Amino acid sequence: MRVLITGAAGFIGSHLTDRYLADGHNVLGVDNLLTGSKANISKAMTHERFQFIEADIVDRWDAVEKAVGDSLPELILHFASPASPVDYGNHPFETLEVNAIGTKHCADAALRWNAKIVYASTSESYGDPLEHPQRESYWGHVNPVGPRSCYDESKRFGEAYVSTSMRIRQLRGTILRIFNTYGPRMRHDDGRVVPNFIMQALRGEPLTVYGNGKQTRSFCYVDDLIEGIVRTAVSNALQGTVVNLGNPEERTIEEFAREVARLANVAFNAVYRPMPPDDPGRRCPNIDRARTVLGWEPKVKLEEGLRRTIEAFRATNL
Ligand code: UDP
Repeated sequence: MRVLITGAAGFIGSHLTDRYLADGHNVLGVDNLLTGSKANISKAMTHERFQFIEADIVDRWDAVEKAVGDSLPELILHFASPASPVDYGNHPFETLEVNAIGTKHCADAALRWNAKIVYASTSESYGDPLEHPQRESYWGHVNPVGPRSCYDESKRFGEAYVSTSMRIRQLRGTILRIFNTYGPRMRHDDGRVVPNFIMQALRGEPLTVYGNGKQTRSFCYVDDLIEGIVRTAVSNALQGTVVNLGNPEERTIEEFAREVARLANVAFNAVYRPMPPDDPGRRCPNIDRARTVLGWEPKVKLEEGLRRTIEAFRATNL
């Protein structure tokens, strides 16, 4: 199969790239390197079935079309977007555009090429949810004019564009709502809780807990997520619909901080900082749909995933 991966040099995109190459496919990766990095695909770059173009899918879609040429992809995995609150806060317009215009380019091309699309949406579509755990049927509770709206609302627009194309134009595809994911290749300075806590622990600094630390998240190890994405891409049973992918083991941020400190072998030492505006109070996926339809559920326990991630962070330049 020929697979087009947008955001191929990002955290999740680069793991997807490696997986599709390992499974014997041809991968065309595209990334504008705004928040992604060539280091993430250094191994893929040496692979004969990998082709990379540095381009912005918002205003240089022509470069993608040119690279595709006559070898039309059968699958588009659309993963291009800043994804951490700090990154999308720093690049709000790029975030709005890649999820709106970039998604339109991907969905329209998928129709022309008769390709299937898997669109990386997010648990942020549920906003600061009033329903727990979050099922795909929940419509969400999103502030459309808050600081996170450039991400939440553009992802929701992307969902609307893809779902409308699926309903009216018979686009083949599935929308993923991806919950907090962690693992090697997260950027050390992306501002998310996993790299922040690991870097702080490894540097012997106090861990910066925002608010009172009672807010919750549910962390999925990247290998588990990739398996869920690959299964979604081959499944016909999820055609035209949405599926949550994440780990339903919910923890408070303070518990999470203690776990990182323990696994990094440092005493737990926290400083409490103000809660960022609109920070969701609770987040946990209901994964019944993925379990039933894909036979998928996360396998890697938080302790094991964190050990691997801390190891990978140690091995790179601190
Ligand atoms: N957080 C924290 N300390 C940090 C970074 C984040 O306490 O140094 C909290 C943040 O307020 C949120 C949770 O950890 O409640 C997850 O934040 P992250 O930025 O990783 O992603 P989000 O799930 O909010 O998109």
